[in-house]
Amino acid sequence: MDVPALRRRLLAWYGRHRRALPWRDTRDPYRIWVSEVMLQQTQVVTVTPYYRAFVARFPTLAALARAPRADVLAAWAGLGYYRRARHLHAAARLVVREHGGRVPDRPGTFGRLPGVGRYTAGAVLSIAFDHPLPALDGNVARVLARLHALPLSLRDPRGARALRALAQALVPARRPGDWNQTLMELGATVCVPRAPRCPECPVRRWCRASALGRPEAFPPAVAHRAPVRVRRAVALIERRGRLLVVKRQGPLLAGLWEPPGVELEGGAPAGPALHGALAALGVRATLAPTGESVRHAITHRRIEVEVWRAAAAAVPRSARLRWVDPAKPAFALTALAKKVARPGVTVRR
Ligand code: SF4
Repeated sequence: MDVPALRRRLLAWYGRHRRALPWRDTRDPYRIWVSEVMLQQTQVVTVTPYYRAFVARFPTLAALARAPRADVLAAWAGLGYYRRARHLHAAARLVVREHGGRVPDRPGTFGRLPGVGRYTAGAVLSIAFDHPLPALDGNVARVLARLHALPLSLRDPRGARALRALAQALVPARRPGDWNQTLMELGATVCVPRAPRCPECPVRRWCRASALGRPEAFPPAVAHRAPVRVRRAVALIERRGRLLVVKRQGPLLAGLWEPPGVELEGGAPAGPALHGALAALGVRATLAPTGESVRHAITHRRIEVEVWRAAAAAVPRSARLRWVDPAKPAFALTALAKKVARPGVTVRR
């Protein structure tokens, strides 16, 4: 493969075809970092309005570091994978505390910040600081596997190591950030997972998978994790048009708010479990089932949620409990909360 020719051709293609995205107008490492974190597991079309609103609300790393966590989570609400927001916020505070508020430009230092993995480090440092590091995400891995017709997948440790070596070998010393964005752009717009647009691809002449006539065979398909079915019950407790919500704890969605609820083991009846969960919060309520349920999904969990309503309730003052106006929540609600916590809730099956 003529690597210099391949690079020239791809970079020229990028110059003509790259999408105008708001984070491509800046070399500000903070803004590039925000965009790369948001783009993990999330599509450009979803990220764009969130990115604009986030950098308008927290225009600098110092502003983000100063903000209360609840404000950061509220700005992230709806984007999912909230651990990314918590890590970004923690990292911003650490940069202010230990690095004078300047995003570290050394890979060893930047790569140790909370939430910064190999991909984020490569993307941010190459784009903002011209470090010749690869940024290997799913799009780039697909392009490389196809170019070389190699059955390598990022999900397999050996495949990931081999793909990283291929990606590293291709990164040029000049314009490494543009190079990484070129590969990402090709993977996102031309070398797409299904039905890649090989006839209009700028690197088709070098592509072994295309020459074999089966580009979609690379990377090899991996078995998807089977969805886990979960039953849950939630209690809608209202007072003067406001709904009671509880702050979530634990690994999933920690720090977000939703109506109190409980996961139901096996075929356990919801009533006693829900009363028990409320009692643990100090809440006493007379509950009745609405007979309605909603379906919800988080990662591989498929959740069936029974909705109960309280006719009367005694609710103590607690840092974990709040009353919220569902139409104008002052803090971040979970997506499930938004489904069920609407004024005059009408819950549909
Ligand atoms: S020729 Fe086809 S398979 Fe090869 S890199 Fe281009 S779009 Fe992907």
